Amino acid sequence: TTAKSDYIWFNGEMVKWADAKVHVMSHALHYGSSVFEGVRCYETHQGPAVFRHREHMQRLHDSAKIYRMPLAYSVDELMAATRQTLKQNHLTSAYIRPLVFIGDIGMGVNPPEEYGTDVIIAAFPWGAYLGEDALEQGINAMVSSWNRAAPNTIPTAAKAGGNYLSSLLVGNEARRHGYQEGIALDVHGYVSEGAGENIFVVKNGILYTPTLTSAALPGITRDAILTLAKDLMIETCEQTLSRESLYLADEVFMTGTAAEITPVRSIDGIQIGIGRCGPMTKQIQQAFFGLFNGKTTDKYGWLDLVK
Ligand code: PMP
Repeated sequence: TTAKSDYIWFNGEMVKWADAKVHVMSHALHYGSSVFEGVRCYETHQGPAVFRHREHMQRLHDSAKIYRMPLAYSVDELMAATRQTLKQNHLTSAYIRPLVFIGDIGMGVNPPEEYGTDVIIAAFPWGAYLGEDALEQGINAMVSSWNRAAPNTIPTAAKAGGNYLSSLLVGNEARRHGYQEGIALDVHGYVSEGAGENIFVVKNGILYTPTLTSAALPGITRDAILTLAKDLMIETCEQTLSRESLYLADEVFMTGTAAEITPVRSIDGIQIGIGRCGPMTKQIQQAFFGLFNGKTTDKYGWLDLVK
């Protein structure tokens, strides 16, 4: 790939972007055996800051734990490595991609008894995931013909490389049909999440989102939205949601580190509410982006300043 920044942190060393390579026989390439994170650094009123840095690195550790993957760096060491990567690349706002993977440990699905994983942290500039005007105008989405993974098949609470074959199917189907994003139902036919986003529904002033038993990723933005909504005195509810509750919603929006808070203006060609960013979505967007411009107090210590 063309370099998106100068250096990638690779097993404790800063390596030039072009030299950060792995062997074609790497286990992860064959079997999807990697866990990763998507994190953002914002240019805030206090300087560059990584949003919910610790929670992301903790989720990385959790994902590795589920798969019994050894991870040689602590949460604090990973956070220090990210700050180093940002500084060395002179980045003040960036998308950050930590990745832990099983490398070239020999053929066969089962790794040897004593093995180590490889760890990288890349950081590079990246704008709004679903397009700049999506944050105001909203996106057109479709309900995918592909369901999310059933319970006890592949763990959906882990942010693992292999899980993204599901996202690939959901997102690709939507784009082939001219939509900007796909929404997956769970194995029972209830709403789960977007290909790379959690989903929220506003109905009669209440903010709903599917429970995590819907096979949705425990999104860190999802958690932040639920917390900010409570601070705004908005009633929130985690429950099972039917497909048709999406069509009848006053507002629908998707959340994620990459997608931030993106309104959904239509689903399966049915207009949602006013067909663009609705009032509660706007209020929540302002509270969220307010963390970075100082209009929302960072009372939970969500900003890790890169000094
Ligand atoms: N669901 C999926 C499948 C995702 O890939 C993401 C992005 N990490 C999310 C939800 C949102 O999670 P977060 O808010 O932690 O970025």
